[in-house]
Amino acid sequence: MPLVRHRKVLILGYRAVGKTSLAHQFLEGKFVECYEPTVESTYNKMVVLGKDEFQLQLVDTAGQDEYSILPHSFVIGIHGYVLVYSVTSLRSFQVVKTLHNKLYESRGKTRMPVVLVGNKADLSLRREVKADEGKKLAESWGAIFLESSAKESQVTQGIFMKIIEEIDRVDNAYGRS
Ligand code: GDP
Repeated sequence: MPLVRHRKVLILGYRAVGKTSLAHQFLEGKFVECYEPTVESTYNKMVVLGKDEFQLQLVDTAGQDEYSILPHSFVIGIHGYVLVYSVTSLRSFQVVKTLHNKLYESRGKTRMPVVLVGNKADLSLRREVKADEGKKLAESWGAIFLESSAKESQVTQGIFMKIIEEIDRVDNAYGRS
């Protein structure tokens, strides 16, 4: 019987960047056009990646800003992070930088699996953050970078596959598999 591994992943970022929309697209395969701020929701999904099976526990957080104090529950028992900004909001890009710094400090400055996501890439006329800026930021963290639209199923699936892969990659690099 294949071994099923548990992975707990947080989706973090400024409000209204599309965290819930990405989670819904991933879980249900559809884009829901409504905006109700999330308190915090946790979802479970079985994910098959190659020969491996994962029980992915996804936490869609309420949204943070530069001043948020991150609770211990954002660090303890968390395997990886999907940090989301909107390419239409420079402020949301600043917020992910602050969030990453705070998490890195809280986790004792050890490498942490991160996928940085520039969402709402379909809104090209309203773009405030260039793809290259996102790419450079992710590189400086040693993280994965993707641009997405929560309207697109395949790109969104890719985000969650990447974070699962990245968790294994970082674990293996530290010999903890
Ligand atoms: P959250 O607060 O970060 O969870 O953001 P939501 O998922 O609630 O999305 C905020 C608003 O942005 C909603 O009106 C969504 O329909 C819209 N939205 C989310 N993702 C996208 C996207 O990729 N493209 C476009 N055009 N709109 C999006």
